[in-house]
Amino acid sequence: MSKKFISKNEAKKLIADLSDEFVVINNPLYIYPDYEIYPLAKKVLKPVKHLSAAVMDMDGTTTTTELLCIHSLEFMIRTFSNRISKSSWRGLDEKSDYPNIIGNSTTKHVEYLIKKYQKYFRKTDVIEAFLFAAFWTLFFGKDAQRKQEVSANLKQFNIINLTGDSYLIKFKQNLFLDEEDKAQIRKYLYDKFNKNFSSFTFNDYIRLGIDVYYQRYHEILERIKIGEGRFVADELFGDPNKHLIEAMPGMSVFLPLIKGLITEQKDLFFNFLFENYQNKEKENFTLRQIEKTRNKFFDLCDYFSNSPMKTAIVTSSIFYEADIVLREVFKVIYSELNHLLSDSDFKTRILSYFKDYNSYYDSVISASDSSEIRLKPHRDLYSIALYKLNIPKEKFSEVIGFEDSESGTIAIRAAGIGLCIAVPFAQTSGHNFKAATYICKKGIPEVLLKHNLFFK
Ligand SMILES: [Mg+2]
Repeated sequence: MSKKFISKNEAKKLIADLSDEFVVINNPLYIYPDYEIYPLAKKVLKPVKHLSAAVMDMDGTTTTTELLCIHSLEFMIRTFSNRISKSSWRGLDEKSDYPNIIGNSTTKHVEYLIKKYQKYFRKTDVIEAFLFAAFWTLFFGKDAQRKQEVSANLKQFNIINLTGDSYLIKFKQNLFLDEEDKAQIRKYLYDKFNKNFSSFTFNDYIRLGIDVYYQRYHEILERIKIGEGRFVADELFGDPNKHLIEAMPGMSVFLPLIKGLITEQKDLFFNFLFENYQNKEKENFTLRQIEKTRNKFFDLCDYFSNSPMKTAIVTSSIFYEADIVLREVFKVIYSELNHLLSDSDFKTRILSYFKDYNSYYDSVISASDSSEIRLKPHRDLYSIALYKLNIPKEKFSEVIGFEDSESGTIAIRAAGIGLCIAVPFAQTSGHNFKAATYICKKGIPEVLLKHNLFFK
């Protein structure tokens, strides 16, 4: 198109040539116009002949961290309405709430929840929860951007120099605060500052809610980082043996496979993958089918060892979170592979890719790459990934994208990727996956065992 300024009719024609399918995405209040209209890439429905890159979401697709995010959002509502125990409030609703609090930006998630649950908030509890979150972020938080935002929010209520408070400084020596410390600090902060707050607008609630959410999530991540995962798991889920950050089923096979690393011990990988498939699905396989599937899996191993895929993580989490989560999940994958494989040079080589997520991924794109605006369902994060992986536009059809949420699948298609796989898990199974090319409810094992990664 050489003409720069065009009429509505000319714009219509331009759009008509682009795609048959469009998606409407609502913009935040400060953006003109109220919505964006994105053309969606044509779905790739024919069996693929070649794949050169895989772009994948993190929370809920690669890792199980979605549960921790949900917990932290629920915690925010609980503290704002002083209904901490399960008996005082059973918590967020899987059916009506989960589709609105998974896969979008944190701001959107918090916005939705505040709108719905605002009527239960009590001013005193909001003040207390926010002040504690602000204190923790400034004294114990590790993310500079978060500290800045919290300071700005405090300033709005004329609270400055919290970090210089002689009473609070005493707690800085503690590695972690126990419940008694926390109660003391909350009371101190409330008594000192509650007069600074008059009434809250909807936007205030959102900003303060975001601070409380991040504080909770980051405190959990920090505790996992120093090896307190067992205590956190016990506190949160009543089960010290529950791994808080794990790889989604099949990941320990899928990741080495697409990088072309499975050149030996293929049988072990196949059996491990098959075990990861849900029992009901396994029963449907006859012995002959298992044999056939195994051979196809071996073919894929050979195929990718000759032409490994480029790989990227694309997440709406900020980098600070992605870094901790990926470190943890790679520890888990490393130990799974270490356990699975027999000692050999092959094993040493494959493990070297999983010592650190940076040795494995060609690129990691987080919300921090897009200044935390225009996150999924906008296409930007995926477009950045395609750029960083150096995939030219005419090769977008050789890219496969994986997401567990509605927003994520829209973002993939809007970025021009026509092979978009939805891999929902329990908490995202209620999402609308109209944008997905394929929906694989049994996750990565289904993608490989049932669809042969969409190769013939
Ligand atoms: Mg996700």
